[in-house]
Amino acid sequence: MPTTQTPARTGLIRSLARGFIGRCPHCGEGKLFGRFLKVRPHCEACGLELHHHRADDLPPYVVIFIVAHIVGYLILETESAYEVPLWVEMGVWPVFTLVLALGLLQPVKGAVVGLQYALGMHGFAALPQARPAPGREETRLAPAGPGGPASRT
Ligand SMILES: [Zn+2]
Repeated sequence: MPTTQTPARTGLIRSLARGFIGRCPHCGEGKLFGRFLKVRPHCEACGLELHHHRADDLPPYVVIFIVAHIVGYLILETESAYEVPLWVEMGVWPVFTLVLALGLLQPVKGAVVGLQYALGMHGFAALPQARPAPGREETRLAPAGPGGPASRT
């Protein structure tokens, strides 16, 4: 018999980590993004509604904060330790900055959605009803012997 208890909310650190790697902050299995920065309307694995997140401008601000500290530090270090020609620096740092910013934008946005979920902000106050993920129903519900999935109906 399937359990119908509501699953507990995932903790803050785990929600941030799951969002950072592009997974649903609730179950960690469903994909968070449909496209580069487009959050899916709901998780396909657990049914958590994701459409009401309000990441807004926070991810770019966080990315600017991180990238500026990394690139600024590296520029100061190379300037003080090496004699790098100006044309090399003019070619390397903008490209490195752009790649780092674009590479961090989706993970940081995912972490921000995970933060909102962990804190129950906006529409994340309600958790989805417990339901087995596709393909796992048989392993979760089928006991050894009679009373397997066929007896549910
Ligand atoms: Zn999920």
